[in-house]
This record gives sequence, structure tokens and C-alpha cells, in this order.
Amino acid sequence: MARTPFIAGNWKMNLDHLQAIAFVQKLAWTLQDKNHDFSDVEVAVFPPFTDLRSVQTLIAGDKLELKFGAQDLSAHDSGAYTGEISGAFLAALDAAYVIIGHSERRQYHGESDELVSSKVAAAHRHGIVPVICVGETADDLEQHGPSAVPVAQLRTALEGVVAGEEIVVAYEPVWAIGSGQAATSAQAQQVCEALRGVLAEVLGDEAAASTRILYGGSVKANNIAGFLKEPDVDGALVGGASLQLEEFASIVRFKS
Ligand code: PGA
Repeated sequence: MARTPFIAGNWKMNLDHLQAIAFVQKLAWTLQDKNHDFSDVEVAVFPPFTDLRSVQTLIAGDKLELKFGAQDLSAHDSGAYTGEISGAFLAALDAAYVIIGHSERRQYHGESDELVSSKVAAAHRHGIVPVICVGETADDLEQHGPSAVPVAQLRTALEGVVAGEEIVVAYEPVWAIGSGQAATSAQAQQVCEALRGVLAEVLGDEAAASTRILYGGSVKANNIAGFLKEPDVDGALVGGASLQLEEFASIVRFKS
């Protein structure tokens, strides 16, 4: 089954809503200018929560082909959870995607595999596609080899998922995030292949064949094509380079 490549820009805690409007406008112009064909590659931006309404208004108003999503959501739908944002609110803004279990949430906010799994269920309750992040630290790599930790993380994250519910998986080795030292495309392929094996085991062959698995960690314009040549890598979750307009546009146009 053909999987449309997916390039996702994780802005992390960068750009306020005014900067977000300017950036998304310029990105849309740049991609249009270069005759970007959105049927070839799906592109989404993941701004901070406070930018989402502005980004939604701009994308809907100008009928841009760009998609957008949030960087996190609550496992709960409403109630006494100070500071949390529910999937219902994101759905009301037409967010297509939500990143769940990014290593920075796991590391700085103590998010466990079980919480990640609850958040995946919360996204599905509101019709939002979760981008489930998994990845090993440098220590994990040394102790357990490349695939063991991401495979275990994905298994738990999928506990409440049934075949037919769309997900995206992002393999992001923690040692490659923001380090300038990306995995090799062969390393990414090895783990993404193992992750697709988990999808097949848990959700069945059809879901495994149609689910997109992204690589993330120091993706740049000069290494994206190598990753996308691998049979089990279907796109990229891009952090730092997603904030640089020309660099991100070049990543999106990886084929040319
Ligand atoms: P990076 O971040 O591209 O800056 O390495 C990737 C991510 O954390 O999603």
C-alpha cells in the first residue's frame, strides 16, 4: 500500500502567535512558489498551543494545503486539570494531529508509557491522529541495542488502539535530537522496520502497511533524501530545521 510521505515540523516552544502567522504565510508562499505538489507530500506544522487558533484561521481562510497539530494533549477530556488542554479543544480547532510522548515530555514531565497510551486513546476519542514518539537514549542504545526500547514503548502506546484507528509513529533516537548528529539512514531503517513489525503483530498486516513511520532527530535538507529512500521510513519529524523557512521548504521538496 502506498504511503504518502509526511513532513512534520515540531516547533517546540518557539514562535508566538504573531510570529506563527508570519511564518506559516511565508512557508505557504515559498512552497507554492516552487510549485510544490501537495498530493506528493503531506506537510504539517506543530505550533505551541497559544498559536493554534491563529494558524487555524490562516490555513482555513487562505485555503492552504498545510495541516497543523498540537504538541501534546491531556489524557482527560475536561475537568479539574489546571494547565491541561483537552482533545475536545483541539478537535474544535480542527487540529488534524497531535504529537504524543515526545522525549522532551517523557524526560522533563515524567511521562510514562502508560500515560502516553492514555493520551493516544484521548486523541482517538476526538478524531485526532496521534503522532506517537518513541526512541532510545544513548544509554539505552549501549545497554539494550537499537530497537528494544522503542519497540517496548510502541507496544505499550498501542494498548488501547484497534485496527482502523489511524496513527503515525515517529522514531526519534534521543541522542539524535537537537544534537546535529542524526542516525544513519540504515540505523533509522533498522528500527523503523522493527516498529512496523510491532504494528503488524498488534494491529494486523493492513494497518502495518498503511501506517506512516517517521524518523526524527537532526533531520536537515542535506540528509532527508537518504532517510526517505529507506523502505520503512515514510517521512520526518523535524525540530530545529522546521523553524528555518528555506531549510524546511527544502526538506519538504526532498525529491527535487
Ligand atoms: P531536531 O528535533 O530536528 O531539532 O533534532 C526533532 C524533534 O525533537 O522532534
